[in-house]
Amino acid sequence: MSRAARLLFLAFAPAFVAAAADAPARSSPTRPGAVNAAPTGAPPPPAASSESALPGRRFGRVEYVSLPAAASRLGARLTWVESGRRLELKGPGGRAEIEVESREITVNGLRVFLGDPVVANGGEAFVSRVDHERCLSPLLRPGHGQAPRAAPRVIVLDPGHGGTDPGKVNERLGISEKTLTLDVARRAKRLLEADGHRVVLTRDDDSFVALPQRAAAARAANADLFVSIHFNALPRDTRTSGVEVYTFAPRFQRSTNAWGGGERDDTEDFASPVNRHDHWSVVLAHAVHRRFVNDLKSADRGKKLMHLAVLRPLDCPGVLVECGFLSSDAEARKISTPAHRQQLATVIAAGVRDYANTLARTRGK
Ligand SMILES: [Zn+2]
Repeated sequence: MSRAARLLFLAFAPAFVAAAADAPARSSPTRPGAVNAAPTGAPPPPAASSESALPGRRFGRVEYVSLPAAASRLGARLTWVESGRRLELKGPGGRAEIEVESREITVNGLRVFLGDPVVANGGEAFVSRVDHERCLSPLLRPGHGQAPRAAPRVIVLDPGHGGTDPGKVNERLGISEKTLTLDVARRAKRLLEADGHRVVLTRDDDSFVALPQRAAAARAANADLFVSIHFNALPRDTRTSGVEVYTFAPRFQRSTNAWGGGERDDTEDFASPVNRHDHWSVVLAHAVHRRFVNDLKSADRGKKLMHLAVLRPLDCPGVLVECGFLSSDAEARKISTPAHRQQLATVIAAGVRDYANTLARTRGK
């Protein structure tokens, strides 16, 4: 986050206390600000389920639940694929492959990062309670324990960066993130309007919009969902390509990229407004992620968690999509073509459509 952005952030969000700085460069290349801002008086998230909570057990400072118990709660079948090491979980919403001592799982063929590693103890596997309630549940049994949710009408699309903030730039090709995100957002807007949605863009020209203002625009529009559109880049790396999909990290979990050696543990012990919507944010993220990987054949960099300032104040489900790497000349060349940007818009719109269909199915139950 630039100094100007930081000042604007403070100016526009008096209820927030800005503290820490940008996230590590290697792991969070283009997110404009993973700002640690503690909302004063943020309400606690609703319980993920009205059922009685599963009994917990602490490993370290994290509360876990037994994976067999979690599976039965989700109506899923759990089997060891490799004794003591790998498990398979089959639920109404799909199939997960889980590895002991790992945070990375596969759900319906897609890479998904849990907030805490799976643990084995006494021949039994355990998953953190937060991962059970806010990752496995939305992915394997969407809508479980949630109030029925109306079909999305108002969709807010957020073209990342703008104005004095170009985002990532590929100087060799002369293209910048801020121009590409706006073009993809405009294309997605047309597609979603054709589906009957009201679509609001957080900016529709080359202007700078502070991160909290973007979420505020979504609140003002009574948004039913929010998609922030970005492109990625890595320093001194011209090979990495593919899609990353982010949701805001749940309370008590750290950002996916804050696990590496030397990274600061950014766990927050308070809930932010968007955490009320963790369940549906994950459903939305999975739908968009699936379309990128299955339809567009994007290399799968995973569904990740991050304390993203642009998502934090939302009062609706929200995701941030890194649509591809501008630091990869091969991928950037594709992204520079209108045809590819139309495809990006198409998979975003298709993901939203899938999400709406999942909502409709959960209402029909
Ligand atoms: Zn960006």
